[in-house]
Amino acid sequence: MIPYGKQDINQADIDAVTAVLKSDFLTQGPQVPAFEKAVAAHTNAAYAVAVNSATSALHIGCLALGLKSGDSLWTTPNSFVASANCGLYCGAKVDFVDIDPATYNLCPEQLKAKLATAKQPPKVLVVVHFGGEPCDMEAIAALAKQYKFQVIEDASHAIGGRYQDQPIGNCQYSALTVFSFHPVKIVTTAEGGVITTRSKEVAERLGELRSHGITRNPERMTKAPDGPWYYQQIELGLNYRMTELQAALGCSQLQRLDEFVARRQQLADQYDELLAGLPVRSQQRNGNNYSALHLYVVEVPATSRRAVFESLREQGIGVNVHYIPIHTQPYYQGVGFREGDFPAAEHYYSGAISLPLYATLTDAEQQEVVAALRHALTEHAS
Ligand SMILES: *Cc1c(COP(=O)(O)O)cnc(C)c1O
Repeated sequence: MIPYGKQDINQADIDAVTAVLKSDFLTQGPQVPAFEKAVAAHTNAAYAVAVNSATSALHIGCLALGLKSGDSLWTTPNSFVASANCGLYCGAKVDFVDIDPATYNLCPEQLKAKLATAKQPPKVLVVVHFGGEPCDMEAIAALAKQYKFQVIEDASHAIGGRYQDQPIGNCQYSALTVFSFHPVKIVTTAEGGVITTRSKEVAERLGELRSHGITRNPERMTKAPDGPWYYQQIELGLNYRMTELQAALGCSQLQRLDEFVARRQQLADQYDELLAGLPVRSQQRNGNNYSALHLYVVEVPATSRRAVFESLREQGIGVNVHYIPIHTQPYYQGVGFREGDFPAAEHYYSGAISLPLYATLTDAEQQEVVAALRHALTEHAS
């Protein structure tokens, strides 16, 4: 089976993790700060805070921006459920903004229209760089300024990418950027996430929230320390810490980030060429940006999607579908959303298939994928 995504672990990665196992610190040692520094360097971010997943990163990111009961968070329906769940964790209401049918990203025009008629703007907007393709951040930031909300970039698909020649994660147009290091993503720490920000205060608060709301900074305490052992819990935090093993793997993987993304770019360009002439559509990529290309999605006619998907699986191609619109999940139906609420995301979903794309996919394997797709489409022409 050719999977849709796969990590690439080399001997240097294994050696880095083994060295930590033989060291004094399995957690809370030097590797996590080193990983944070490396992510900050790669993304041109002022501060980076590592946690145990992007889900955790989104949660404490929302907490650090003050999201609470009575507030609302808006996001795209075309994402993994974590992009929306973070609002609910904070007791806020969640709502969605439909996607642009060409880029599959949250549509700035739809956002503008929704803001114009909303009783209250959101406190936080989570945008997702779907498949690695950057959102229209300039337009979104202009609306954020006008309507006074904060923007979180869920860049789980987008490390190593650039928006208008600036690295994703530099937070030029957002308060925070969140990355995921799950094995299907661009680089991995097994489980793990990072938040980047330009704000020293927010970074400090994130550091506290990931570890029980505890500070060791005397300036943040309500009284002078009792002694060198002293710490204070100043708010209700969590244990979202990343381990040393994960951070060491991350440091090692980051050394190959640019190489991984370059290969994904090459494979995507080849898909574009190989698929020309087939009755499929793929994501529009803006030439002014550089997508990290977490995903290569094709849209096939909705009437044949299921048959094409099953045929590909039978032919040994591990295709997948990203994403089932969040608002159609039973949990979200339970809080009042209905099918039909976000038609562009639903229409996109009805035809979407994610083809295999990862750095070690060979040209021969890619040709096998395309041949299988051609076969499936011919068999199930609608
Ligand atoms: C993978 C993913 C997440 C969650 O990442 P974890 O690290 O698994 O918690 C959140 N948002 C998006 C868009 C993702 O793809």
